Amino acid sequence: MSSKRKITVAYGDGIGPEIMKATLNILEAAGAQLEYDVIEIGEQVYLKGISSGMEPKAFDSLRETKVFLKSPITTPQGGGFKSLNVTTRKSFGLFANVRPCKAYSPFVKTHFPKTDLVIIRENEEDLYAGIEHRQTEEVYQTLKLISQPGSEKIIRYAFEYAKKYNRKKVTCMTKDNIMKLADGLFHKTFDKIAKEYPEIETDHKIIDIGSALIAERPEIFDVIVTLNLYGDIISDIAAQVTGSVGLGGSANVGAEVAMFEAIHGSAPDIAGMDMANPSGLLNGAISMLVHIGQPEVAEKVANAWMKTLEDGIHTGDIYQEGISKVKVGTQAFAQAVIERL
Ligand code: NAD
Repeated sequence: MSSKRKITVAYGDGIGPEIMKATLNILEAAGAQLEYDVIEIGEQVYLKGISSGMEPKAFDSLRETKVFLKSPITTPQGGGFKSLNVTTRKSFGLFANVRPCKAYSPFVKTHFPKTDLVIIRENEEDLYAGIEHRQTEEVYQTLKLISQPGSEKIIRYAFEYAKKYNRKKVTCMTKDNIMKLADGLFHKTFDKIAKEYPEIETDHKIIDIGSALIAERPEIFDVIVTLNLYGDIISDIAAQVTGSVGLGGSANVGAEVAMFEAIHGSAPDIAGMDMANPSGLLNGAISMLVHIGQPEVAEKVANAWMKTLEDGIHTGDIYQEGISKVKVGTQAFAQAVIERL
């Protein structure tokens, strides 16, 4: 029997195939014990009239492998199409979205070189629960759903994450000064669960001032736990201020299935040009290796990737005169990482 771990892989749209090829080449060269079940998702599937962007056999694959390494897809314009990410999260109960945002100063320019925070976002509830309807010709309604079990699950996950990765502080962000019941429940649940983790410092910020602080002083945050919509917005702010929007990876984790990807989209403007930075997907893949019990390979890849950045071998999106040494394309960047394994 093979000792390789089977995972589901989707090459996606736009720059997806290029960054997936680069990522898998690096994983293979690093000795990751993987075999792939490749599924088709995104544009081509939507165009077949499948509104979720994923065929039934893709769902079967995920049920079997329980691990999904996914490239970004292009979401078709117009109505009638469902978000593939939201469908996957809801179908497989991927309740936690984990997004580390770290500065790689001085190799990647940022005003906040000490930033090293992780946003843990609730992934199934809130305004993204899909409860939307038309009330009258002129009025539409989207309902915000916050539950006690859902809040407990994500908040406990955030504290356990902090404990596991030796993080010192968990900050909760809500708007409970206005939404006293729904956001209030999340805040109260946070205060209750925090008591179980006396060794971890805790804090609460109203989401508006919390966002402003991420933009101005991101280094004061460690782990942030928040609701779905707020988490979606602040994770892009945090990625941007660390200067690493093309570098970030994310994990969507459930009790059984987990999905790993880059935080960016399919970048159709540079698709097929060998210009994309594969680092976001690679960072997602590094978290995946830890998740499936191959942490030594993960560390080897992370070190080689860091060394490549330190050596000034940069793709165009992070290339800067004075800091960078060589401007490379997607596959040459992957090759440089492989040479440093
Ligand atoms: P985008 O992230 O694809 O691109 C924004 C800008 O960043 C572009 O200029 C692009 O060239 C650049 N960029 C993104 N990734 C890069 C990389 N790895 N290397 C270098 N440059 C990079 O966002 P968008 O243009 O708003 O969206 C394009 C498509 O992606 C849309 O159809 C959107 O729905 C989809 N999308 C998919 C996902 C996903 O599948 N997880 C996430 C976000 C957006």
